[in-house]
Amino acid sequence: MTSGLHHVTAITGPAQPTVDFYSGVLGLRLVKRTVNFDDPGTYHLYYADGDAAPGSILTFFPWAADALRGRPGQGQASAVAYAVAQGGVDAWADRLAGAGVERTEAERFGERVLSLRGPDGLAVEVVEGGAAGGGWAGGPVDASLALGAFHSVTLCSAAPWATQEVLVGVLGFEVAGAEGGRTRLVNPAAERAGTVDLFCAPGDGAARMGTGTVHHVAFRVPDDRAQREVRDALLAAGLHPTEPVDRQYFRSVYVREPGGVLFEIATDPPGFAVDEPADALGRSLMLPPQYEPVRDKIEARLPPLAVPA
Ligand code: ZN
Repeated sequence: MTSGLHHVTAITGPAQPTVDFYSGVLGLRLVKRTVNFDDPGTYHLYYADGDAAPGSILTFFPWAADALRGRPGQGQASAVAYAVAQGGVDAWADRLAGAGVERTEAERFGERVLSLRGPDGLAVEVVEGGAAGGGWAGGPVDASLALGAFHSVTLCSAAPWATQEVLVGVLGFEVAGAEGGRTRLVNPAAERAGTVDLFCAPGDGAARMGTGTVHHVAFRVPDDRAQREVRDALLAAGLHPTEPVDRQYFRSVYVREPGGVLFEIATDPPGFAVDEPADALGRSLMLPPQYEPVRDKIEARLPPLAVPA
């Protein structure tokens, strides 16, 4: 069983516009500046709440300006939502209007939802509901409004019943309701960031991975033992999880669920303060031990990054 969402990883275009938007407009905290461990010539940027805690972590692989554009659809997460307190949607609508960001409003399951898009089309939502708070007080957004924990992610599955079976049978979610073709699942063990919606927009075809799309969704477990138990349950369900992989800030098991979405089971420990002080997260380029010997070469290939104050 898991206890809700750990992180969401998306692919974007060039790093600087990504940072301008997520640091400058959304006011998230950049908590780690590192490289893609599987492609160290490119960045891996981690955003989170003030405590850099699981359930708030949104990470990006920035690709080149001419990289393949993704297309959301079946087999992918299609939106990532942040929880805000009552009144948060109006306040965020004002802030986004001031920044020239287009947005739309709707209501789902009795909650107000503000929908917007990142610079490369990634669907981001702000929802009045769930456990809000914990946003970064050191950013450009007032602390009462700062985005912290996720409210939910939306998955567009090519096989929704099979995806639901994995979420319920292996990952510890329960069906909480259905509305407008959307099935809501909630993880009762999650203190926050415990909601997953299954929904495809009419006409959604097969997803294509590329800029502006979600690469994978990670669910949290407290330690390696719990991760092993979930991995065993995935195997027993006939799925093919990887062996655990060391990602420096957590340990990961990946599995392609039957509806095509790439899931990850990530441990809470060790967290982002493992290689730099908690009050200085995200300011310097951090590399895992295997890449330290070639730091000069890596730094020469990465574009400089300016984080908005
Ligand atoms: Zn991940």
